[in-house]
Amino acid sequence: MKVSEIIKNNKLNLSIEVFPPKTGSAFESVKTATEEIAALSPAFMSVTYGAGGGTSKYTLDIAKNIKERYGVPTIAHLTCVSSTKETVRQKIEEIKEAGIENIMALRGDIPADMLDADRSLWQYHHAIDLIRELKESGGDFCIGGACYPEIHPESANKNDDILHLKEKVEAGAEFLTTQMFFDNNLLYNFLYRIREAGINVPVVPGIMPITNAKQVERAIKLSGSHVPQRFKALVDRFGNDPAAMMQAGIAYATDQIIDLYANGISTIHVYSMNKPIVAEKIMSNLSDIIGK
Ligand code: FAD
Repeated sequence: MKVSEIIKNNKLNLSIEVFPPKTGSAFESVKTATEEIAALSPAFMSVTYGAGGGTSKYTLDIAKNIKERYGVPTIAHLTCVSSTKETVRQKIEEIKEAGIENIMALRGDIPADMLDADRSLWQYHHAIDLIRELKESGGDFCIGGACYPEIHPESANKNDDILHLKEKVEAGAEFLTTQMFFDNNLLYNFLYRIREAGINVPVVPGIMPITNAKQVERAIKLSGSHVPQRFKALVDRFGNDPAAMMQAGIAYATDQIIDLYANGISTIHVYSMNKPIVAEKIMSNLSDIIGK
């Protein structure tokens, strides 16, 4: 099923993100974790491509397994910046063959060894190039794109970022999923700005339940997200007690989700970090709200 159809139901739909293993030897344990999450019946799941240390090789295996064994609609992520047209086209064919209807079209982070390379030789520069390629591929995909309530770190300013986002939507992105954020006001402000700019596709906010103090540092370093005082206090108070930190982090994320839903946003994406316990606790906290 296409994500664009699921989003239309206006009920609380939770999607859960997982990432593939770094190595073949970890494949079985990651597969099991993703199956445990799929067994919770989230509205859909997305499988990253080469992000979070996972290798791109297994994205499709995991996405296909979840869809076929658990009937959970999946999104396969695909990046382009460090790939050739040949590789990308082959991946698109594989996604088609696997019967996956949803693709999150991304540029990907620029690898360190490409930063000083001659960019005129690159075959893809931005996510929009991949979206165009997907449109030309003849596949009947629902295409998603990434967006950044706190601005993409490479953008010169918010207006530029929104301008490029608009181009991405006009090229064919049917929904946008956000980078994680810990203050819902940042999301509301972003939504106001993009709607004013004429971007009207659904935006799926990305929530990361922080369940240990180390994860906070890493997540913030990678995403550049602002950490509100309320959240800092929680990490200061519970950071040395893993069980308490997990409970507090899940409560904080649950609170963010309830606030978003109460303010009219019905499809919300949870960065699960491949932890079934996180998905399970969030979903059980919301059990009387999900699907309503
Ligand atoms: P783009 O949309 O290309 O934007 C990147 C930068 O270029 C922005 O500053 C933008 O304003 C600018 N820009 C865009 N178009 C143009 C243009 N035409 N001209 C000039 N400037 C332009 N990474 C992975 O490796 N694998 C994943 O699976 C993955 N999943 C993600 C999922 C989500 C929801 C998010 C938010 C991020 C994900 N990422 C993933 C990280 C992502 O690849 C990086 O954030 C990357 O730096 C940007 O990707 P993008 O698709 O947003 O790029």
